[in-house]
Amino acid sequence: MLYRTVPKTGDRLSILGFGCMRLPSTKRGGVDVERAVRQIRYAIDHGVNYIDTAPAYHMGKSEQVLGMALDGGYRGKVRIATKLPPWSVRTREDMDRILDAQLRTLRTDHIDYYLLHSMVQKSWEKLKKLGVREFLDAAKNDGRIKNTGFSFHGDTATLKEIIDAYDWDFCQIQYNYLDENNQAGTEGLNYAAEKRLAVIIMEPLRGGNLAGPVPEAIQKIWDEAPVKRSPAEWGLRWVWNHPEVTVVLSGMNDEAHIDENLRAAESAFPNSLFADELALITRVRDTYLRLMKVGCTGCGYCMPCPAGVDIPGCFALYNNHHLFPHDRAAKFLYLGRHGGLLGATSYAGLCKECGRCEKICPQHLKIPSLMKQVSREMEGYGLGVKVRLAQGVFWCYDQLGRIKRKFSSKH
Ligand code: SF4
Ligand code: SF4
Repeated sequence: MLYRTVPKTGDRLSILGFGCMRLPSTKRGGVDVERAVRQIRYAIDHGVNYIDTAPAYHMGKSEQVLGMALDGGYRGKVRIATKLPPWSVRTREDMDRILDAQLRTLRTDHIDYYLLHSMVQKSWEKLKKLGVREFLDAAKNDGRIKNTGFSFHGDTATLKEIIDAYDWDFCQIQYNYLDENNQAGTEGLNYAAEKRLAVIIMEPLRGGNLAGPVPEAIQKIWDEAPVKRSPAEWGLRWVWNHPEVTVVLSGMNDEAHIDENLRAAESAFPNSLFADELALITRVRDTYLRLMKVGCTGCGYCMPCPAGVDIPGCFALYNNHHLFPHDRAAKFLYLGRHGGLLGATSYAGLCKECGRCEKICPQHLKIPSLMKQVSREMEGYGLGVKVRLAQGVFWCYDQLGRIKRKFSSKH
């Protein structure tokens, strides 16, 4: 296992981090606890020392399983990363209450890397107003948190704004060879590194979509490579090739994949890919972009839309929906990110056809008519009803958590 250094503290983190957002499941859909514990411990025994979880993963089960896996001497071998869910925070007191509950669930007295979960402009503004920076200072001072950071899904400008608003130790961004210009992108990665933040990468394989089964045209290119690697290994190595990257998270739940990732992490040095290998990856990326329904590069020149549509965000999920037909997550993510489940609404159906974006787009995309297409396929009928139903499920889950916490604090 290779390790990279956190610039501000000198902490040494394994370049492969274990993401506990996709733990192995039982036939009935719950987490296969025994297998998950075995996998986490196996990864630690083979050098992984950074484990990422969150209350939202597996409806709270992920933190519980990690707490169990780290019993029996494993806690001292790893750094735990978990997150403050902004959607469950209504007051400054909620932040302390949630953190204290997480410490109990994870069976520990401190969180090594604590993140504000899934920041975009709106959630950042909300937490800032509620005093999240003071909360982080206080929790760091009393030892409950060692390092402060945030995970991020907004645009580059918002990332820079958040980075400049607090003395963070690290941040977590989505990055892979298809997302060089999407969300934080390469510009955001470089900015974070310049500010001496450790950078944790999530979605290095776009939720496993770049790992396979890949479209035939893509596999043909990989087959030309002189060194035989799986699409997953090419994707991970491309991210590790960036010296600005500290840890790459992989949501591992299959023993063979864990072994494959561990092997790759033994030799993925920064700047270790040869020019012909990088050229091959560029061809794969260009082919993916050609295969996509909409040739949006995610540059963001068309933003902001006066009607509130997240134009590149809607196109990105629409493309995913078509590129990876085996993946059913794109529509759900669309509902969450753009339907208003996690913040302001920004779905394609809001488009008023003003035409402003079309004049600016360097790819000359017919955005208003494409928006109609996206709306038809991704939203269908009754988007508002679907969002309200999902909000109801989230609300019930939140209330259930509060009742459970109240009950356990009384006993
Ligand atoms: S055409 Fe639609 S998507 Fe484009 S700026 Fe106007 S309202 Fe927004
Ligand atoms: S300007 Fe065009 S290419 Fe750039 S993000 Fe907007 S739609 Fe995509």
